[in-house]
Amino acid sequence: MAPTFADLHLSNDVLKAIDALGFEEPTPIQSQTIPLLLQGHDVLAQAQTGTGKTAAFALPIIQSVDVAKRHVQALVLAPTRELAVQVAEAMHNLGRTKGIAVLPVYGGQAYDRQLQGLRNGVHVVVGTPGRVMDHMRRGTLDLSTVRTVVLDEADEMLDMGFVEDIEFILNAVPDERQIALFSATVPRRIESLAKRYLRDPQRVTISHDARTESQTRQMYIEVQYRDKIEALTRILDLESPSSAIVFCRTKREVDELSATLQSRGYTAAAIHGDINQSQRERLLQSFRDGRAELLIATEVAARGLDIPDVTHVFNYDIPDDADAYIHRIGRTGRMGKKGDAVTFVTPREMGQLRFIEKQIHKNLRHVAVPTTGDIAARRQEVLRAAIVTAIESGAAATYYSGLAESLAKEHDPLQVAAAAIYLANGGPGGRHEEVSAVEEMHESQPTGPGAMARLYLDTGREHGVRPQDVVNAFTAEAGIAPAAIGTIDMFGDFSLVEIERKAAALVLERAALLHMHGREVTVTPARAKSEAKTAAPPPRDRPKKPRTKPRTGPRTLA
Ligand code: ADP
Ligand code: MG
Repeated sequence: MAPTFADLHLSNDVLKAIDALGFEEPTPIQSQTIPLLLQGHDVLAQAQTGTGKTAAFALPIIQSVDVAKRHVQALVLAPTRELAVQVAEAMHNLGRTKGIAVLPVYGGQAYDRQLQGLRNGVHVVVGTPGRVMDHMRRGTLDLSTVRTVVLDEADEMLDMGFVEDIEFILNAVPDERQIALFSATVPRRIESLAKRYLRDPQRVTISHDARTESQTRQMYIEVQYRDKIEALTRILDLESPSSAIVFCRTKREVDELSATLQSRGYTAAAIHGDINQSQRERLLQSFRDGRAELLIATEVAARGLDIPDVTHVFNYDIPDDADAYIHRIGRTGRMGKKGDAVTFVTPREMGQLRFIEKQIHKNLRHVAVPTTGDIAARRQEVLRAAIVTAIESGAAATYYSGLAESLAKEHDPLQVAAAAIYLANGGPGGRHEEVSAVEEMHESQPTGPGAMARLYLDTGREHGVRPQDVVNAFTAEAGIAPAAIGTIDMFGDFSLVEIERKAAALVLERAALLHMHGREVTVTPARAKSEAKTAAPPPRDRPKKPRTKPRTGPRTLA
């Protein structure tokens, strides 16, 4: 049977604090490391992100602190300011009933406040290595009374180049001390640090299997580089994730992807190394409170951020190795919640995928990119559920039974229902189309030169736009060869452009917004030719969201 917190020999006030936080039972890393730490062992503990490592070291520390002695008895090192604050908060909450004083110290915060705290006497210091070292040098932090040192997220600290600072700190603590090292991954550099500083360390590993057996479904899609954006938006449309992170390999890719997604009506917060701390926090906040649906990030920028659990992780680029993969997908499926991790693999990267699979002892499930048919079916499902709810709740009858009755007298009730659904789904211009031009391009139609598609532009003669402006914009802003463009039909307030299918995909991918004659012009796939002649505007992919301007650099006006 799984042990309870009470089985772990924790004192009553600690158990009370755990209960107040609503933790029902210890996680595996907690039930395995807490007893070892309470016995005074040095520990090297490895478990994926989100498995409860903080409480695993916090609880034994809180239990063993002597509250009457107001000096530093435990030191926790964390890679970033956010994580230091987060750990300090968690320790404060767990130590509340016992009256433990915890002080976070990190770069960027005024020394005054930290000095004040240190002077008043605290039991636990949680800090970033650089700032802890500064305080030691200034003589404002005395480590001679420290009995326990924890290196939290040790792999990240080493990745961030803190190894010398850490060694400086470890060399300054008393000989009689306990050291615990917590890490999501244990690369060789961690092993060697452990070898040098830990004494007879007990190693706890929450196995790959246990980690990946977590509720996270790990999948991959095989996709050409140029089709990635289309694949991503289809999955997003099919799954409508409530929160998702998309990992890209480079800063540029983060910028480009977020611009493209924004232009397609998704709200995305982009985070990478060139974005400063305060901006990053603002962006992260917009993601936390749901103003941004998506977080697009490089792996490095995402490390050390306190990102809430997400429902979906997308590896827009395959990670470099298994450790990176584990870090990334650790952002979902925490604490037994469900999560989906989808890795995009180009045909040339299949070897890299097999390599990662071998290291994590698990095969990712191959899934197909959803077709637009899948998405249409999914929309119908959602619509059906909403209709059934409206019927069952009685709300529809309350407001509209009179209208329904009178319509049913004059028309076939089935027709009335179909019309109502049509209107509920956006009416003219709603999401009725099942197959878009983009789908035809990549899936069902020949793609050789000569295979043509049509694009709809929401600008026309009335706006003073001439065919030449269209050609200029397509070539200058979307990088299309003039030869790929066929007939251009200009109407009053819209135009239809015949263009090679491949080029059409590029236009849609690179520039959902173009500039013509000083106006922003939205480009969408046009309906089939016969319908287009009726000159009704075509459906938009995501009509309800505002289309924001892409954030890439200035565009030239054609
Ligand atoms: P890690 O450091 O391994 O990434 P954290 O310590 O930050 O993970 O824990 C992740 C989340 O799980 C936190 O929100 C924490 O409050 C919660 N948590 C930790 N232990 C438990 C538990 N035993 N039961 C329920 N939730 C827990
Ligand atoms: Mg942690």
